[in-house]
Amino acid sequence: MRDGLEETTEEQARARLSYPFAEGPTPSQAVEVGPGVKWLRMPLGGPLGFINVWAIREGEGWAIVDTGMGGPATRQAWREALQGPLEGRPVTRVFVTHMHPDHIGMSGWLTRKFDCRLWITRLEFVTCRSLAADTGRPAPEEAIQFFRAAGWDDEALETYKAAFGGFGRGLHALPDTFHRLNDADEVRIGDHVWRVVVGCGHSPEHASLHCPELKLMISGDQVLPRISSNVSVFPTEPDADPLTEWLTSLAAIARRVPDDVLVLPAHNDPFHGLHARIEHLIGGHERGLARLRERLAEPRRVVDVFSVLFRRPITENLLGLATGETLAHLNCLIARGEAVRRRDPAGIDWYQAAS
Ligand SMILES: [Zn+2]
Repeated sequence: MRDGLEETTEEQARARLSYPFAEGPTPSQAVEVGPGVKWLRMPLGGPLGFINVWAIREGEGWAIVDTGMGGPATRQAWREALQGPLEGRPVTRVFVTHMHPDHIGMSGWLTRKFDCRLWITRLEFVTCRSLAADTGRPAPEEAIQFFRAAGWDDEALETYKAAFGGFGRGLHALPDTFHRLNDADEVRIGDHVWRVVVGCGHSPEHASLHCPELKLMISGDQVLPRISSNVSVFPTEPDADPLTEWLTSLAAIARRVPDDVLVLPAHNDPFHGLHARIEHLIGGHERGLARLRERLAEPRRVVDVFSVLFRRPITENLLGLATGETLAHLNCLIARGEAVRRRDPAGIDWYQAAS
């Protein structure tokens, strides 16, 4: 599962962000981003290269936020981090922003190794367990119909069937228990209080952590400086409208979190400019929706409108991401009363602007 598509440099320039750290962490050296808060990186395959994770000093140990993808490379990176930058101190708690494997993947390894608890929202925990349970099952017929309706050809459907269940393969065995995080909870971690800020749309109940005293916000995938987070409709809930939830969540974060925070994102580098970035992200989706509506003057399938939303060509490995994200925009237009969907006798969905 991909977190999103990298944006062009032209778009970054317009976003008015600043990056205070010239160098990121290395396996042997963390970067201190605030008093008692360390930035570390865990390896990731693919174009993103790594995920940022955070260690917050708590008593004699560290509370960890996000854990990296399950597997031997991350396990080795954690061993090095624990002995090196984390000074051989124990992990006290494991916070996870959301259920995607690059965030929750190693949580079970850490909680078992240190006999400590996973702290996560309830929907992220239970959704993760239900997706992990798909590993080993064949792709359901409804899911194949869902992608056929979007206009996929037989070859793409075969690739989907062969890859089905991949989610669970990115996870070390999950923790069996968790401590629930709720929106607006105030959690003391070491010397400071961190507020939970829940957002939806990229995942069901994503928790960012905001520390007003330290002026820090650990944003997970909710606000990324150079990537537009993936917002997708999935076959399990074909009529979902995650884009409306995403836009509402971003606007709420701009109201609840002041602009003076240093944002600590899961990908790319820490940055200043939270409100400018949020404004830019919302604007990008709204402009995409407007272009899409125009393109729907004639009936179109999902696969016919990728070029409206994505500048890059959609190759086979991006097809799932692009389909989910395009459907998120189409379902949003339908929810706004600006588009309609009709299924033809062959089971293909056609979208058209509402007259
Ligand atoms: Zn994610």
